[in-house]
Amino acid sequence: MSQEILKVENLCVKVLDKEILKGLDLVIGEGETHVIMGPNGAGKSTLGNTLMGKSEYEVTSGKITFLGEDLLEMKTDERARKGLFMSFQNPIEVPGVRLSEFIRNSCDALGNKMSLWNFKKAAAEQMKVLNMDPKYLDRELNVGFSGGEKKKAEILQLLMLKPRLAILDETDSGLDVDAVRTVSEGVKAYHEQVGGALLIITHSTRILESLKVDKVHVVADGHVVAEGDRSLVDEINESGFEKYIKA
Ligand code: ADP
Ligand code: MG
Repeated sequence: MSQEILKVENLCVKVLDKEILKGLDLVIGEGETHVIMGPNGAGKSTLGNTLMGKSEYEVTSGKITFLGEDLLEMKTDERARKGLFMSFQNPIEVPGVRLSEFIRNSCDALGNKMSLWNFKKAAAEQMKVLNMDPKYLDRELNVGFSGGEKKKAEILQLLMLKPRLAILDETDSGLDVDAVRTVSEGVKAYHEQVGGALLIITHSTRILESLKVDKVHVVADGHVVAEGDRSLVDEINESGFEKYIKA
């Protein structure tokens, strides 16, 4: 494996006093693409939210190391500055804030200050990959965006913010075939341009089509119950999770 970027050891997480993650282990190398599959309610989003440091997720034991540092010691904004990014299953609408302001401010906060002109130029370039009209930059963040447009806006952030590790939580769910392909192309572009690592939580193979997958992890009942290569995705799509839940 290439150099480790993320190491999760025996992670236990409680939400509202209920134990959701029960000893989860995961290691991701620099620039690698990992996939997480698992039945609904298994704790996949909980893992993503815990990595991002959302306050409802209480880590009761275990350790998370990101780029050699203790991630659990860092606040959410610090995690983002270190290069952690998450694209959400249900992106929120933010009236009054333009997409361009939102992404430019985020770039700024991560230490990549750009003039408005340079920002718009760079964004328009990336929007070509996503088949997105640059006019969207002037729209309020996610307000009135279709499901597909919201997801594209998330991938645009990914392309502009250039994180070291991107967590994509069901970014492909609810999208039509063409939108999934576009999102997949965007993710591939991120991987090629930035060489960043990916943790993709998904139920379908379509987002993976243009990507080289290094490892697949099956999460059930709060921990990893199986690991394998890309063929595991196909196997699960054929036979389901039953065997792993019982195991
Ligand atoms: P998955 O993403 O694998 O479908 P989640 O991590 O979203 O599963 O959820 C795992 C369990 O934790 C579910 O029972 C869910 O209701 C609960 N849970 C997750 N986040 C929260 C939250 N913020 N508040 C209350 N319960 C939560
Ligand atoms: Mg989820």
